[in-house]
Amino acid sequence: MKTVTDGLVIKEMSIGEADKLITILTKDDGIVKAYASGVKSIKSKRSVGTTLLSYSNFSFSKSGKNLRVSEATPIKNFFSTDNDIETFAISQYFCELCAVFEPHEETAPEFLRLILNSLYFLKEKKKSPLMIKAITELRIAAKSGYCPNLVACEECGAFEDEIMFFNCENGAIQCKNCNKSEKNVPLNKTLLKAMRHIVYSPFERLYSFSVPDEAAKELSKITERYITYQTDRSFKTLDFLHTVYLESET
Ligand SMILES: [Zn+2]
Repeated sequence: MKTVTDGLVIKEMSIGEADKLITILTKDDGIVKAYASGVKSIKSKRSVGTTLLSYSNFSFSKSGKNLRVSEATPIKNFFSTDNDIETFAISQYFCELCAVFEPHEETAPEFLRLILNSLYFLKEKKKSPLMIKAITELRIAAKSGYCPNLVACEECGAFEDEIMFFNCENGAIQCKNCNKSEKNVPLNKTLLKAMRHIVYSPFERLYSFSVPDEAAKELSKITERYITYQTDRSFKTLDFLHTVYLESET
């Protein structure tokens, strides 16, 4: 692995009085865990670069089986004290998604780019938080082996209909005539178009679309349902997000 790389701190764990074990999503090697000693002291030069949500340039050294952070120069910090609790909760959820989907060397650069962009839009309040959440959830799933098939109705090949139905179990869509299951989620044209955009658009255009607030809310529910269904697990940070933000939305 590379001893110098850029990465985002997605998890931190205190060790004793002064040290931390941090988990970093790196550009070159995917998820990396490294010890950072003395960083809990504000005098430490590495203290800022090793905090949660810090995107930094790291230098690592090996000590036995473990990796240590020898330098951490901050490039951009996505945690700030002016962040509201919702922004922080969604940012933490994105970090957990990275840890769970664990990108490998080939997928890490795109993963990192996606998360950094999402954190940027979130922090700068450039887009609705629910929209950013939906984009991040569905694109991560699509790039991690859980790509839905939104091209056409899986039974008859119809491209679109006033309402199509999405099956969270197999990621396929069905038209009104072919849909047999009550569990399938209805998608109007706006929702289907948005989901197709998130899954199939080139990265450069990923964030350049918007939907009305009501549709963003609906979209966020669907992508969340898809991701929790596909991974068959719960996310601690998502539960937290529900208590501070989404509860009033559902
Ligand atoms: Zn059909």
